[in-house]
Amino acid sequence: MDCIFCKIIKGEIPSYKIYEDDKIYAFLDINPCHNGHTLVIPKEHTTDLTTISQDVLNHIMAKSKDIAKLLDDKLNMDGYTITQNNGFVEEVKHFHIHIIPKYINEKKMTVEEVHKKITL
Ligand code: 5GP
Ligand code: ZN
Repeated sequence: MDCIFCKIIKGEIPSYKIYEDDKIYAFLDINPCHNGHTLVIPKEHTTDLTTISQDVLNHIMAKSKDIAKLLDDKLNMDGYTITQNNGFVEEVKHFHIHIIPKYINEKKMTVEEVHKKITL
C-alpha cells in the first residue's frame, strides 16, 4: 500500500519521533502550524475515525494526554488544540490526531530545533 504514514512507521521515510510503543507512533508534523505540532498515529493502517478500533482509539487518546504533558514540559506552551480530520479534509488517509500547541508569544523554531528541545 502506498501510504506515507505506513512508510514513516517502517522507517522508510525519516521522521522526528517523539513517542512509540507497540500500537502507536508519534512524530512532529513536517509543516507545523506551531512549534511542537505533533501527529499521533496507529501502527496498524486504518483510514479514519469510522474505521479505527475502539481499543486503539482509546490508547491513542490516553497517550495523547501524556504527549501533551511532554510538550508542555519541554516547550512551555500556553494551550493546545487537538484535531482529527476525516473524508475530503483528511489529506493523508491514515488515521491521525493532531496535537497543536498554542503560545501567547511564539518564536518560530525549525522542526529539528523543536525535536532537540523535546528529546533532550
Ligand atoms: P491532514 O490534513 O490529513 O489531517 O494532515 C496531514 C498532516 O500530515 C499535515 O499537517 C502535513 O503537514 C503532515 N504530513 C504530510 N506528509 C508528511 C510527512 O512526510 N512527514 C511528516 N512528518 N508530516 C507529514
Ligand atoms: Zn498507512
